[in-house]
Amino acid sequence: MSGDDPTAWRIYVSRGCISAGLCLAIAPDHFEFVGVRARPTGAPLDEEGAAAVLDAANQCPAAAITVERPG
Ligand code: SF4
Repeated sequence: MSGDDPTAWRIYVSRGCISAGLCLAIAPDHFEFVGVRARPTGAPLDEEGAAAVLDAANQCPAAAITVERPG
């Protein structure tokens, strides 16, 4: 496994999520709202999805998204 293999990535949303919804707009297949907070959907990550998830993490106004890239 390597950090370049998105199928091995783990995505987390912290309690710092302020429900801005940006991640759902940027990567709708990979984030969903549960109550007032976003959470990862767990959908498999292909290259396009991985790029969208990283984009969402970078743009989250609360810096609530963590992407662990093993390897
Ligand atoms: S972009 Fe950040 S603050 Fe907004 S819903 Fe997603 S995780 Fe929450």
